[in-house]
Formats: sequence, C-alpha cells, structure tokens
Amino acid sequence: MPRTQPLRTEAIVLRQRPIGDADKVCVLLSPAHGRMEAVARGVRKTTSRLAGHVDTLSRGTFQLARGRSMYIVTQAQTLDAWPSLHDDIDRLSLAVGVAELIDRTAMPDVGSRSLYRLTQESLARVAEADDPAAAVRWFQLRWLDQQGYQPELDACVRCRAALEPAGNGLAALEGGVVCPDCHRAGAGAPLSSTAFRLLRYMRRSSFDLTAQVRVNRAAASEVDRHLSALVEHALDGRLRSSSFAQALEGAARGARNTREVDHAAV
Ligand SMILES: [Zn+2]
Repeated sequence: MPRTQPLRTEAIVLRQRPIGDADKVCVLLSPAHGRMEAVARGVRKTTSRLAGHVDTLSRGTFQLARGRSMYIVTQAQTLDAWPSLHDDIDRLSLAVGVAELIDRTAMPDVGSRSLYRLTQESLARVAEADDPAAAVRWFQLRWLDQQGYQPELDACVRCRAALEPAGNGLAALEGGVVCPDCHRAGAGAPLSSTAFRLLRYMRRSSFDLTAQVRVNRAAASEVDRHLSALVEHALDGRLRSSSFAQALEGAARGARNTREVDHAAV
C-alpha cells in the first residue's frame, strides 16, 4: 500500500491503551483487514475532534494512514456507541469479555466478515437484549464454531456412542460430550440434561429463538461454566499451534532450532 493512500474501513474499537502524553492506541477489528492497531493522536485532550469517535466498544468508520510502525487515525465517525453498555456495569463487563476474546484471536491482515458480524451483533445484543448473558453464551458457541472448536454434541467423544440427554459429562479437553458410561468411568464434568438440551438448541437456533427459552439460573450458570472451559481449551490450542508455528519458523532459519521444534511438538 503506498504511504500516501489512506485506508477507509468500518471497524469496532476492541480496546485502547494510552501512549505518550495525549495519544491512544486503538485496537480495531475491521471486516476486511482483521485486527489492526492505530494511534489516535491527541484524543486525551478535550479539544480533540477525534475524541468521542474512537471510544472502546464502539463501531465507526475510520480513515487510517500507514505510519512507520502502526496506522494513524486521521478521521473517525461513530456509527454505534452502544451507550447502554456504559450505563450498566454487568453489560459492560460482558461486552469487555466479548471484545477481549476477539482481541486475543482475530488475526492482523486477515479479514473475516463473519467474525466481524458476529462481534457487532454480539455487542449490540449485550447492550440491548433482555438477558445479556444469553447473548454471550450464544456468542461463545458461535465463536468456538468459527475457530474450528465446535463442541461435539451428537456422539460421545470417547466411544462414539450416540448421546441421549441424561447422565452425560462434558469433557472440554476432548472437545465435547461423553456418554454416561464414559462419564462414570471418570471422563468429563457432570452435564445436566437441561444444559445438554440447551447447548443443542443453541447450536441449531438463531439468537432470537434462543433468547426466548426460559432457563433456570442453575442450568444457565452450568452452561456458562462448560462454555468457558471449552473457550479456554480452544485458546490453549491456538496458543500451542502458534508457538509451534513460531518454532517451525525458527527451524527454517537454522538446524540449531530443531530441538525446540521437537519440544514444542510434544
Ligand atoms: Zn462414551
């Protein structure tokens, strides 16, 4: 990209960090360019015309110039500020969790319209839905799917037996549900039939349909625990595969690094 050519993109501000006396670095998710870091100069001054258009957890259009090491925000216009996120600490912490997961896993220069749409819709739902926690559950299940970690809910991940709702376990490390026999033999954390049915329903249903299901608090927090374990496992897997990829890159630079690759592969 020539330096003189500015880049225009819609983006969601996932987070920010202060830099220098008056600037901020904005971590953006763009549908076409993936994760981007851009400096918004002077936005911590009250006179800045950019301030208010680069807030965390907002969606806007951005014009970016390529600087030496990072993009520079030259124009920004907010499209969605989702003010209810900032008026409600519970909604805000759920939305920050959504943004953090995307921040940790979106790739620079790898655009994904489906990931962008999922992020945008999920933040809007966390801001506006009657049950924002249900929006996060639905988001986590779709995120797992997009990362290639869709949990197995049809056949036991150990013995491949077809699953009935009762007596199962959920084995996050193995990527899904284990049957009653395998669960009794020690695999997985207990999975109630209500939680199992809810996971299956969420998988095949739109968010609007899922949001209509009345779930008691115990089943909801059980599903939250299982989804969090599945998400953690998926993050670990991504971490392992990226350190493996780094080790492979190192090996390509010299035979000395071969031992590291062997180590990383174990
Ligand atoms: Zn089994």
